[in-house]
Amino acid sequence: MTTATPASPLTPTLDPHALARTLSGKHLIGGALVPAASGRTFDVVNPARGDVVGQAAFGEAADVEAAVAAAAKAQKEWARRPARERGRLVADCGRALQAHVEELARLITLETGKALRTESRVEAGVLSDSFVFYGGLAPELKGETVPFSPTVMTITQREPIGIVGAIIPWNVPLLLMALKIAPALVAGNAVIVKSAEEAPLAVLRVCQIINQILPPGLFNMLSGFGPDCGAPLVAHPKVGKITFTGSVETGRIVYRTAAEKLIPVTLELGGKSPMIVLADADLDKAVAGAITGMRFTRQGQSCTAASRIFVHRSIHDDFVARLKAKVDAMVMGDPLDEKTDIGTIVSPQQFEKVQGYIAAGKAEGGTAHTCSALPTAEALSPGLFVQPVIFTGLTNDSRLAREEIFGPVTCVIVFDDYEEAITQANDTEYGLAATIWTNDLKKALDATQRLEAGLVQVNQNLVVQPNISYGGVKTSGLGKEASLEAMLEHFTHKKTIMINMA
Ligand code: ADP
Ligand code: MG
Repeated sequence: MTTATPASPLTPTLDPHALARTLSGKHLIGGALVPAASGRTFDVVNPARGDVVGQAAFGEAADVEAAVAAAAKAQKEWARRPARERGRLVADCGRALQAHVEELARLITLETGKALRTESRVEAGVLSDSFVFYGGLAPELKGETVPFSPTVMTITQREPIGIVGAIIPWNVPLLLMALKIAPALVAGNAVIVKSAEEAPLAVLRVCQIINQILPPGLFNMLSGFGPDCGAPLVAHPKVGKITFTGSVETGRIVYRTAAEKLIPVTLELGGKSPMIVLADADLDKAVAGAITGMRFTRQGQSCTAASRIFVHRSIHDDFVARLKAKVDAMVMGDPLDEKTDIGTIVSPQQFEKVQGYIAAGKAEGGTAHTCSALPTAEALSPGLFVQPVIFTGLTNDSRLAREEIFGPVTCVIVFDDYEEAITQANDTEYGLAATIWTNDLKKALDATQRLEAGLVQVNQNLVVQPNISYGGVKTSGLGKEASLEAMLEHFTHKKTIMINMA
């Protein structure tokens, strides 16, 4: 097996504006960058300055048709290759992406407003990890022998589904894309990825880079709006699986279409993740955990955001004061500036939505502790900056504690009794993640058993890792992503073969 690092034949471009212009108006279909069939495009806007930085191809049913045709052609030959060879090529994609970390980080910052140092560089850095990880798992696409009868050899084997449609959101597009496409490809499928309308260019760049290594057509990328481009992808008769990350509302639409076609789906949807801080918790660690858990550096734009923080009455005021001081010390500013901790909200629609929730929290009687300071630079005045808000005085029944905000707004809710905290933490339609902070071993263990969430953590708040299964219960979703099981369960089907030897 070769281990040499494949050099990407594409030169990394550190000027994100120049790169955005080069990528403008294109899909990747059949191994080539091509305009939309209609020739239409839509603007890609830098949310920190409000300027148009490029265009994206406006994908529609005709583009889906072309991508499916290319994928169908490439998939058969790909599936016939030895699994380890597929794995080697996918791992090579990961290594090639490493040379592009800085350019990808800058491009993602330009189109999403996420801060370069605290967010985008981290995301671009872990992108390659998922490709390398799944590439190495190729030999694990194993079947079983079944002890049916001594004269009937019975075995199972894992086979690819065929064409996988991957629909991704804008908050962490590169990482979420990698967790979908890397296992799908290693398992022998072809993939069509549809980017989110807010963040199409960095995704296209990743596709262009890995297209240097993978056979043409095996991997295709479309940009466009949900109803115009996502819906026909889900509905296409030759697409055999959809893996989707986005809102609950859209997840339901995707699931309905998939149900008509009787195809499997993986859905990673919203969250309203509880964080429980008991009276004995190490307060500084819990406060730091709230900062990462709430993803303040990503303006709270995370489905796992710790947006309900239950704090014991005896430490409540202290916790809130320390949390506020920490968020106050975070710098809001130009997302491309190395000094910036917190960038902007992604789009005017999200900006309005977040402002609406802040107003609603005040109207419900909450106290808004507004943190940090808006940037003052003139060039950033059109920027979609929202000062983080810590609400106190709200209950778990308030709108802010029930609905996903997807912004830098969290509710600190006071409790007196451990049982009450667990009950309230579970009193939500969501079940993506939960954390508990305590040094009481019995309570910590008890909480891991009783919290209704796909991921429960004690005294830490780690983000998604490629080898740790991730996904929600209740309306937070269906199926798991990341890990070996995700590749086996979601991107293959199991064929049983029986051989009568008598
Ligand atoms: P958001 O609220 O952030 O826009 P969505 O769930 O609407 O979240 O978007 C997540 C992804 O789903 C995006 O790529 C979007 O274009 C896509 N999408 C939106 N509507 C549909 C739809 N009807 N069918 C398929 N995909 C859709
Ligand atoms: Mg949408």
